[in-house]
Amino acid sequence: MQINKNFNNLEQSYLFSTVNRKQREFAAAHPDADIIKLSIGDVTRPLVPAVIDALHAAVEDQAGQETFHGYGDEQGYGFLHEALVGYYKSHGVTLDTDEIFISDGAKSDLGNILDIFGADNTVLIPDPVYPVYVDTNIMAGRKVVFMDANEDNGFLPLPDPSVKADIIYLCSPNNPTGAAYDRKGLKAWVDYANGMNAVILYDAAYECFIEDEALPRSIFEIEGAKTCAIEFCSFSKMAGFTGTRCGWTVVPKALMDGKLNQMWLRRQTTKFNGVPYIVQKGAAACFTEQGQNQIRETLDYYKQNAKVLSETLDALGIWYTGGKSSPYLWLKCPNGMGSWEFFDYLLENAHVVGTPGAGFGKNGDGFFRLTAFGDQQRTIEAAARLKKLLG
Ligand code: PLP
Repeated sequence: MQINKNFNNLEQSYLFSTVNRKQREFAAAHPDADIIKLSIGDVTRPLVPAVIDALHAAVEDQAGQETFHGYGDEQGYGFLHEALVGYYKSHGVTLDTDEIFISDGAKSDLGNILDIFGADNTVLIPDPVYPVYVDTNIMAGRKVVFMDANEDNGFLPLPDPSVKADIIYLCSPNNPTGAAYDRKGLKAWVDYANGMNAVILYDAAYECFIEDEALPRSIFEIEGAKTCAIEFCSFSKMAGFTGTRCGWTVVPKALMDGKLNQMWLRRQTTKFNGVPYIVQKGAAACFTEQGQNQIRETLDYYKQNAKVLSETLDALGIWYTGGKSSPYLWLKCPNGMGSWEFFDYLLENAHVVGTPGAGFGKNGDGFFRLTAFGDQQRTIEAAARLKKLLG
């Protein structure tokens, strides 16, 4: 027996365990401190009533002889494909139902998609980054090249024609930086990828936070993207499905004349048996008029938190990205502090916890992530403490 030795090349991530340990230790030493967590990357609001009703109804379906559902198609039910085709149409993208594959969330497919690509591809990944892209490629033994996202490029790196890449990861709006590409920036990537015969793996998990019409919600809004991009998206942040699990992946048939679409279908039908009928019914309810209105209310709740934090950073004159089209704010640590130094400073003096940017890559040092997924009153209180401490 041989193990996959590539696992030895993974770097241990101590980011969230260290954040939690430091918070625990501080709380133990200061039992009266009222600590506010602005580090949370999970949603906190419950599923909306339209989704809950659909879930209940689907449970009842499973109780009836005539309405019971066993195995469904691995790639998802037609009703959810149709709903998603309509969703894309609302932002100007035309898709066929068989270009959409329902998944149990974006994270699984972001890892699983690598099954259809050869081991010898060179992978281009921005730094700082959502760690899943890096680790899944290291597990598969692929060569990873990093591109710098930094203050100079507003954490939105553009293609460097002198760099050769086969697989390119883009995440917009970005985790952790909250920065989002405009059409011109994404078009540059699409042209580069088409010119290189490369594929873009586009993570749109936070597209639901985009309000500005100038920013694309899908890479397929960009001309030429269907011949070079695969898009991953999710109900997690859009509708609070982090614990319910549902997402989707779009593999256009124009990509390699349908070859990748066929390979992904083959992969899924072999290794995946579909998302539960009940969950897909809940997901489809997000696209009813009632569902859309209710989801918008929840998103507005988080967006209001992001606004409070943005206004605070504006008032303090602190440089940051995100906050406007994203639940994340990525700020430059004041007074030249390093990420962990600022973490300790904020915890000790304001009893506020955030996430040190250094945990997302070397370019993250000196930066710090705050999130808008918390409770509204607590976020307002945290913002007031930041103002007092840093003003
Ligand atoms: N992509 C990004 C950039 C994320 O930040 C996350 C979760 O935080 C995911 C994907 C995973 O989403 P899902 O819950 O759909 O697996």
